[in-house]
Amino acid sequence: MNIDFSPEELEFQKEVRQFLDNKLPADLKEKTLNAIPLSKEDYLRWQKILHKQGWAGVNWPVEHGGTGWTPTQKYIWANECAVAGAPDVSAGGIKMVAPIIYTFGNEAQKQRFLPDILASDIWWCQGYSEANAGSDLASLKTTAVQDGDDYIVNGTKTWTTLGHYADWIFCLVRTGTPDEKNQKAISFLLIDMDNPSVTVSPIITIDGNHEVNEVHFDNVRVPIENRIGEEGKGWTYAKLLLTHERTNIAKVAISKSRLKTLKSLADKTCDHGDSLLDNSAFSQKVAEIEIELLATEYTELRALSSISTGEAPGPESSILKMKGTQVGQLIDELFVELAGYYGMPFIKKQFMSGFTGKTVGPNASVNSMPRYFNTRKSSIYAGSNEIQKNIICKTVLGL
Ligand SMILES: Cc1cc2nc3c(=O)[nH]c(=O)nc-3n(C[C@H](O)[C@H](O)[C@H](O)COP(=O)(O)OP(=O)(O)OC[C@H]3O[C@@H](n4cnc5c(N)ncnc54)[C@H](O)[C@@H]3O)c2cc1C
Repeated sequence: MNIDFSPEELEFQKEVRQFLDNKLPADLKEKTLNAIPLSKEDYLRWQKILHKQGWAGVNWPVEHGGTGWTPTQKYIWANECAVAGAPDVSAGGIKMVAPIIYTFGNEAQKQRFLPDILASDIWWCQGYSEANAGSDLASLKTTAVQDGDDYIVNGTKTWTTLGHYADWIFCLVRTGTPDEKNQKAISFLLIDMDNPSVTVSPIITIDGNHEVNEVHFDNVRVPIENRIGEEGKGWTYAKLLLTHERTNIAKVAISKSRLKTLKSLADKTCDHGDSLLDNSAFSQKVAEIEIELLATEYTELRALSSISTGEAPGPESSILKMKGTQVGQLIDELFVELAGYYGMPFIKKQFMSGFTGKTVGPNASVNSMPRYFNTRKSSIYAGSNEIQKNIICKTVLGL
């Protein structure tokens, strides 16, 4: 595996750096680097800048307005964005539902939905999970019963990320008979949330944030033309989407950038007359994370290398999801250790954007605890890490 960039790739890296230097708004950079939650307007502002540049659809095929970048270019883009402090693109539309629509949707659906997704004119959220259908997703109970040209949808989705920002939701629903318990009874529906029979209720997480929701459907009429592909094939489409979701989830570039920041802050933090980075217990933890991160990065490069030779992402996506999120959480723990007692006060307004008062403790400490609590989620969502271990056992170890 040759991991040196070619002259063309180095030229591309230069172009990306220039773009980020010139176009990334300073306030968004500051919020991203300090883990301050972004508002809907923040996300949209950045996504529209990307769209203007023609770089919104990083993974999309060129014929639908995507960049057509090679896997290596995408890798360079992710790394440069992480270093520069560019916000992540909201996932539901551009990263999640769009690949399903351009892969399995019909022509009318592609024309109707893809341009608005690329331009970030419509916000999408993901409606898969239910109270008793998370890891065991196939046991979902939300029903879609055909009535003329429509389905009538009833049920409740949960943990819907940023559902309160969303205009549309893509859902897995049960279209088969109630006794048909298998995956063949599941279909993939696109549902307009601008309907009084769709209601969203907040779930406030342990960090005090409103990020996830429940979405309730009470006899919601959805045209059959909003179904992607065939009835009963939703599970097949959803599985493809999960591979996309997991490959993007390791966030190696972000972890590398955060680890660099952590080391620089620890170097400036006094610990019994020395710097915290010189504390052998602390520096050993840093070294262990660095080793894990390097190993994860090489797994990512291996995946990249096989994708660039035309192979599909395989079980690497599960390894990346698991290791990437573990490393991210270990870094969060060290940020808490760095903050020490300054991590203790829970002063909500100082965690939010627009706060101009004096913070308790140095700026870098302020968000360490909320972030630590918030990212407990990363080993649960997109398929919990235990489920990834099951997949690795079966597909890699043959157990
Ligand atoms: C912050 C956050 C955001 C999310 N956003 C969305 C979203 O936008 N849309 C959406 O549809 N869903 C979303 N989810 C839901 C997420 O996909 C589920 O939480 C996840 O699939 C786990 O399901 P569960 O919560 O029902 O836990 P359960 O499936 O009940 O699992 C409970 C525990 O048991 C373990 N477990 C379960 N089955 C097995 C097994 N077979 N072997 C070993 N261990 C097992 C799990 O690993 C976990 O530790 C989100 C979740 C979180 C936390």
